[in-house]
Amino acid sequence: VKVARHNATAPSSAKRDIRGLTLPDLENVIEEMGESKYRARQIAGWLYNRGVESFDAMSDVPASLREKLAERFTIGSVAAVFVSRSADSTRKLLLTLHDGEQIESVIIPAGERVTLCLSTQAGCAMGCEFCATAMMGLRRNLTAGEIVGQIFAARNELDETKHLTNYVFMGMGEPLANYPRLHDALTIMAADWGMSLSQRRITVSTVGIAPMMERLLADFPVVNLAVSFHAPADELRSRLVPLNRRYPLATLIDTCRRLPLRRRDRITFEYVMLKRVNDSPIHAAQLVKLLAPLCAKVNLIMFNPFDGAQFEPSDRDAVERFQAILRRGKITATIRESRGRDIAAACGQLYVERHGLPARRASRHAARLASIAG
Ligand code: SF4
Repeated sequence: VKVARHNATAPSSAKRDIRGLTLPDLENVIEEMGESKYRARQIAGWLYNRGVESFDAMSDVPASLREKLAERFTIGSVAAVFVSRSADSTRKLLLTLHDGEQIESVIIPAGERVTLCLSTQAGCAMGCEFCATAMMGLRRNLTAGEIVGQIFAARNELDETKHLTNYVFMGMGEPLANYPRLHDALTIMAADWGMSLSQRRITVSTVGIAPMMERLLADFPVVNLAVSFHAPADELRSRLVPLNRRYPLATLIDTCRRLPLRRRDRITFEYVMLKRVNDSPIHAAQLVKLLAPLCAKVNLIMFNPFDGAQFEPSDRDAVERFQAILRRGKITATIRESRGRDIAAACGQLYVERHGLPARRASRHAARLASIAG
């Protein structure tokens, strides 16, 4: 079921967005205003715990300070302009930002768990061949406020009986290519003055910007890391994930070995199953060999085809055979069904469906895909 929404109110103002400032940033702002520093914590509580959208709602903050804040800042919000509801209860939100850019977030309920898939960029520069977002190119980085704003937008979509329990950065964009904003967003999500979310329930997925993976786990040691792997050999991976040319498999595996994982923690490797591209028993055996030195878990993801995609999902038999080889190689492997198939739930699909593709980009994409198929 697709539910169209009214246009979002897009704040168009030169004022800075206060949502996205960390506690130290807020303390600086408050002190510059000649006010007591402790007010910053109160304001953070209103912004990140209660999620208010106006300074007037901050009832324990003096009216004079609220006025001063309103002169300098807005409270940015990201608004759902379109919501797709899938038969399997996955919900995909198309969200508008203040400058008209659009991003996607996906709410994925599964039993008691309700996972929110978050975007970190509008579009993406990484160019992965099986990804609809890649077809948009990079439009811009999201701010920390826009990243956490997706959580409030998603909460508005849920009724009172459902709460978000897990957060995965697997939506539009490469999170580690927008690290400063991701860092602030994770800080706000995890801090007791912010949203007080457990780092254990947050997963950051990367295509493998090796140095930033180390930085992420140094800054947030308990956050889960997922690596979009998709191929067990450099030649194939470089074609599917162009970043592999910069950080080839040896570098990536070496980096993963050095990561400061706590006992029992594992790195998740995402592997999208593409028919007759990366799904043979030989690929599975190569993957076992490659991941053997690591504490690894593999998610085999059923490919979600989209308009313009030149790949097909692997047959079920091929996926199960692949999984069995990994398991025999002592690697935990789970098959992830593609959720929300009927609503284009893979990242970027809803945007591309609603906006079409820039013609030049579409033809360049088609040419690259043809070279892979050949
Ligand atoms: S898979 Fe992720 S990193 Fe690759 S193009 Fe898509 S959004 Fe970007």
